[in-house]
Amino acid sequence: MIQLYIPLNFLGVIYREIKQSLADIERMFGLMDEDLEVKDKPDAPALLVDGGAIEFRNVNFAYDERRMVLKNMSFSVPAGHTVAVVGHSGAGKSTLSRLLYRFYEVTDGAILIDGQDIRDVAQTSLRKNIGIVPQDTVLFNDTIAYNIAYGRPDATQAEIESAAKAAHIHEFIVNQPDGYKTQVGERGLKLSGGEKQRVAIARTILKNPAILIFDEATSALDSRSERAIQQELQMLSRNRTTLIIAHRLSTVVHANQILVINHGEVVESGSHESLLDKNGEYARMWLIQQHSQPNASTDGNQMA
Ligand code: ATP
Repeated sequence: MIQLYIPLNFLGVIYREIKQSLADIERMFGLMDEDLEVKDKPDAPALLVDGGAIEFRNVNFAYDERRMVLKNMSFSVPAGHTVAVVGHSGAGKSTLSRLLYRFYEVTDGAILIDGQDIRDVAQTSLRKNIGIVPQDTVLFNDTIAYNIAYGRPDATQAEIESAAKAAHIHEFIVNQPDGYKTQVGERGLKLSGGEKQRVAIARTILKNPAILIFDEATSALDSRSERAIQQELQMLSRNRTTLIIAHRLSTVVHANQILVINHGEVVESGSHESLLDKNGEYARMWLIQQHSQPNASTDGNQMA
């Protein structure tokens, strides 16, 4: 039996290695495919950022011409402000962040940053100024230091550690046997959802962009980690233009403005209090969530 076990175990290891390499390649091509969607104009200048004010001006967008996903969408995020977008699943929330990052071009209308149409500037300069904390952070099969520095490979060890401290992941890292050299990802240490999100926050702190997009995770973290992460996200968004694609209510409550979208249209907008006073769609969603999760704090409520 043991004679069979060793080769079979070895084959299992090889199979997992190949599968992971393919997953990495797929991910790489996935990213490259996204890049092929849009092309820079010849000699497109760099985006000049002065505060990072965002404007969606009468934006229409369809992935497939038979179905409009965003319809005449107009809103502004003044420099340094936080705007949250809420709405049911499939309403078009994440599409806004994909368009802002220019993974796709708008079908009609325009997106402007500090008054410049993002179609007229070099993609690299646009993306350098936007930091995304995504729903699910991709970790590369490399060291934790590499994963934090991804996006700013020239960062020094001291800068990496300082970002990790600000994201409250430093203690966790130094308690690993190989510290910052610990391998993570499929072939190394597996991180929890909250730990991965902290790596993403550390990455973003290191990138230091003028504009932030938080695409909140749909799956609830345990409420203690979630509250801690929310505090870190709020700290990160201070004085930065922030767009929150919201699934939970915690950050929404503090946003300068909340947009409620339905079938790709803004149906309501205002602060948390003003929307509750309006007693419309937002107030209805809020009530439903309060009733569906009677024991949950507002921090743990799900939007979509
Ligand atoms: P959720 O809360 O579930 O994340 P969402 O509001 O973020 O949803 P989007 O991801 O923006 O919704 O999707 C809006 C619509 O566009 C959905 O109907 C979705 O099926 C469609 N859609 C999203 N991505 C694509 C794509 N790559 N190709 C075609 N249709 C897409």
